[in-house]
Amino acid sequence: MSTVTPMMAQYLDIKAQYPDALLFYRMGDFYEMFFDDAVNAAEALDIALTKRGKHNDADIPMCGVPVHAAEGYLLTLIRKGFRVAVGEQLESPAEAKKRGSKSVVKRDVVRLVTPGTITEDSLLEARRHNFLTAYCELRDQAALAWADISTGAFHVMPVAQVRLSPELARLAPSELIVPEGPSLERLRPVADDHQIPLTPLAKSSFDSTAAEKRICDLFKVSTLEAYGTFSRAETSAMGAVIDYLEITQKGKLPLLQSPVQESEDRVVQIDAATRRNLELTRSLTGARTGSLLAVVDRTVTPAGGRLLEQRLSSPSRNLDVIQARLAALEFAVEHTQLAEALRAALRKTPDLDRALSRLALERGGPRDLAAVRNTLIQAEAIFDLCAGNNLPDHLKTALSSLTGFGELLPLLDAALIAEPPLLARDGGFIAERYDGELDEARTLRDEGRSVIATLQKKYADHTGITSLKIKHNNVLGYFIETTATHAEKMLSSPLSESYIHRQTTANQVRFTTVELGEIETRILNAGNLAMEIEKRLYTRLSDAILADAAELSAAARGLAELDLITALADLALGENWTRPTIDNTRAFDISGGRHPVVEQALRQQGGSSFVANDCSLSADRGAAIWLLTGPNMAGKSTFLRQNALIALLAQMGSYVPADRAHIGLISQLFSRVGASDDLARGRSTFMVEMVETAAILNQADDRALVILDEIGRGTATYDGLSIAWATLEHLHEVNQSRALFATHYHELTQLAGKLTGVDNATVSVKEWEGDVIFLHEVKKGAADRSYGVQVAQLAGLPGSVVARARDVLDMLEESSRSGGNKIQIDDLPLFAAAPPVQPKPASGPSPVEELLNSIHPDDLSPREALDALYRLKGAV
Ligand code: ADP
Repeated sequence: MSTVTPMMAQYLDIKAQYPDALLFYRMGDFYEMFFDDAVNAAEALDIALTKRGKHNDADIPMCGVPVHAAEGYLLTLIRKGFRVAVGEQLESPAEAKKRGSKSVVKRDVVRLVTPGTITEDSLLEARRHNFLTAYCELRDQAALAWADISTGAFHVMPVAQVRLSPELARLAPSELIVPEGPSLERLRPVADDHQIPLTPLAKSSFDSTAAEKRICDLFKVSTLEAYGTFSRAETSAMGAVIDYLEITQKGKLPLLQSPVQESEDRVVQIDAATRRNLELTRSLTGARTGSLLAVVDRTVTPAGGRLLEQRLSSPSRNLDVIQARLAALEFAVEHTQLAEALRAALRKTPDLDRALSRLALERGGPRDLAAVRNTLIQAEAIFDLCAGNNLPDHLKTALSSLTGFGELLPLLDAALIAEPPLLARDGGFIAERYDGELDEARTLRDEGRSVIATLQKKYADHTGITSLKIKHNNVLGYFIETTATHAEKMLSSPLSESYIHRQTTANQVRFTTVELGEIETRILNAGNLAMEIEKRLYTRLSDAILADAAELSAAARGLAELDLITALADLALGENWTRPTIDNTRAFDISGGRHPVVEQALRQQGGSSFVANDCSLSADRGAAIWLLTGPNMAGKSTFLRQNALIALLAQMGSYVPADRAHIGLISQLFSRVGASDDLARGRSTFMVEMVETAAILNQADDRALVILDEIGRGTATYDGLSIAWATLEHLHEVNQSRALFATHYHELTQLAGKLTGVDNATVSVKEWEGDVIFLHEVKKGAADRSYGVQVAQLAGLPGSVVARARDVLDMLEESSRSGGNKIQIDDLPLFAAAPPVQPKPASGPSPVEELLNSIHPDDLSPREALDALYRLKGAV
């Protein structure tokens, strides 16, 4: 056994406490990593792997990152799924030496950085929440708690295990804590499904009695009843969140707002597949671009952006809440000038939530103090702008949170300079004339600096060395520096005996004098004093802010609300949206509805404009279902989705892209749109489709809105048709939901005659010289045919195949008309008899080929593609 150095012993000791994390071990200006940590981190960060010393006779792998650049590396590691324990030096090497010549500097982990517990601006997305969730099951109860320590939000709700997945899809958390034990393996696939890192935590962290005490201690209350009546599972889940924060933040607890109890019936229930299909906050590629959120987001502050995402993910089911939001929005739409002035002021407000959170965790700096000041200045301006207006209640509430800082604002205003530095240790952030003692210390320090300049001139005169300089470094302090050749001259000058030699480097010789030493002490003392006073004042200001933390959080929420309202007003005016009528009926009446994302995409392409369509699914009793037929590419999916989106926008409290909309409250939204193989889980397209359809038929109630696109497509025709048929009947008879059902099984249109609540509708197309032109108009009635062959031709299937397909189709249609159930395949001319493909001419490209070469399919809008096809046809 080789001996372990004291430092390595300390390292191993700390590392043993954090086996699941990479240990950043602070050594001077670097965080070093050793052993497997070093190997993993070097690979993840693409940095050099070296070695240092030996352990058990083997080299110890090592890598390191500079402390000043550590945030960037942390970000990469967290994104790649690592957790990082940050081990700091808790004393200076000098202090360690005092304890004994061989003592190692004391070190310990000050923070465990995990995806759900980051606070740095550079690591967080400004416009997204960063939720840490904890899930707990206790006998027949289960609950989910979630917190965002970067904003202080803290929520809890009972969640049955089957509802966990949809809730996780709604919240999109960065980390999920679950108790160690048998449930872990059951929950792992759910977390994996949503790509959420799973953190198992000891069962003791979920103990409900300990949890209650933890929560009461945190909020300094004697009982939880102040916040509602919580089940044991809810208390445990909240307790686990707090315990995990204590573990990761090493006892420094973030500023959490008192817990808000939510319930499932408060918001529209939307399952994970529906959320994905409708591309609410992320497009199918996973990016924000192309999602509904990206298209409707006109907020001007990060907090407003976060609130918008939250509202869009959780549209309300409470009529009063929706009406209050709509009334506020209507006010903003009607008071354009005021709304614009508010937006101008809001643009200047910093991210108050996140500044507060850093201050509470002692990770803040002077800029966070200034963020609070700047927000309060704008809050005051916003309050004044609204004065004298007869505001709707919702706006009044938001506005009332902006006042009450009569002491804090003047304090910050007087104490801070306009643009303070990032770090308190740099000093220089307290304004002049705020603190007499500080001004005095600063004057002494600055005077000292000018005395140095005078001294330099004096020494240069005395020695006759014009290049002589007085410089400063951290080792020597102030010193006189001259070149080696001039040094002789110095020592023979009249004052030679007063120059004391300090150091000779390759080219320079350095001296000091008693006089210089004295001035240095004076400057140092004054500088240190100034720094100390600033630090003291920093703490005082930070404490003053934290004393008002609850009010400041409320103000931040008020500002976010104002941002959201004025942003939605800007959107409504810019896009010509209308206020929806919402009530407790079972109406669903949309006139001139549009799909906001497709409409914007068409506009950006500069081609044809969006064709608005009506939809009427009103059902006072029983079901109301539209059975939509029409060729591919006609606009069926677009129509289905646009109606779902209009309903969601209305219930989040927004205007909607329609001329008129009357919607009876929707409780659940289901969609089965498109299909993609879920190969990762070994499920075929058809299986995914059936699982999702089963979920809908099992859960949808008579207040649900269901959209089903092409179900049964993934299997043989008759199987598919039968499944679609039975599904439609079930929706009509049992679920009694409002539903849109797109299909290309024309046989289904017969059901409209049989089921009272089912109507046929079709997206119209025009045929012109054998080609199909999409009109994108939805009208009552069934499609006459599917135009599949024409669409295939548009897509570029070889002419011979298209011609052959036409023949087969004619034959099939003829056979079904004549009632023959055996298709007379033999009657068809052989495929080989179809016109052969023209051989390529030997010399030069044909006009068709030339035209083809000039076409770049990716750059074309559908309209341009169609035009190009006409040109191609003309060139044959
Ligand atoms: P389907 O589901 O019938 O195959 P889609 O809904 O996918 O058709 O629509 C195909 C394309 O047609 C869309 O990408 C869009 O560009 C265009 N489109 C759909 N609906 C409209 C509309 N109402 N107005 C204008 N263009 C539309």
